[in-house]
Amino acid sequence: MAGLYFKYGTMNSSKSANLLMIKHNYEEQNFTVKLLKPSTDTREKETIIHSRVGLSAPCTLINDDSDLTELCKDYKIVMVDEAQFLSEKLVDELYEISYEKVVMCFGLMTDFKRNLFPGSKRLIELCDSLQEIKSVCSCGRRAVVNARFKDGKLVLDGAQVEIGAEDKYRALCKYCYHDLLVERLKEE
Ligand SMILES: [Zn+2]
Repeated sequence: MAGLYFKYGTMNSSKSANLLMIKHNYEEQNFTVKLLKPSTDTREKETIIHSRVGLSAPCTLINDDSDLTELCKDYKIVMVDEAQFLSEKLVDELYEISYEKVVMCFGLMTDFKRNLFPGSKRLIELCDSLQEIKSVCSCGRRAVVNARFKDGKLVLDGAQVEIGAEDKYRALCKYCYHDLLVERLKEE
């Protein structure tokens, strides 16, 4: 059914695998699917979406200069990976497209400081359907925080997106995150 869908999850919650499996299902039923991904590098136009379970597919990189209506005109279904990096403008355009087509966005809800990404915020404001892709912390509870680590230590501050940074991320439940945070603040 046409509409704007936002499926969010933490790091490593198999969002890309989910996306690629749904794409496969649609194509088996002869629906045409366009894959998009927001890009900060305007020179690149195409890339591949990979998932850890071995699936992959080519996708078109988009930015504020992209003509989404033109890119999507021959497709019934539009799917977006890394949707947290969409600009408000791109989400607004996807919303317009969603009157006619299924537009399914996959991404993170919040950053390592538990603040919304601008793209995710706009998606929450406009989407017809909001669904969590659940994942678990190493303790077995539901993972909700995308904790950032540098040299093995929890990162407390910094930019929302660090291009090219060597930082590692772990999806944690709020209890494990709290314990690490308390430990880390003692060191400060
Ligand atoms: Zn935990």
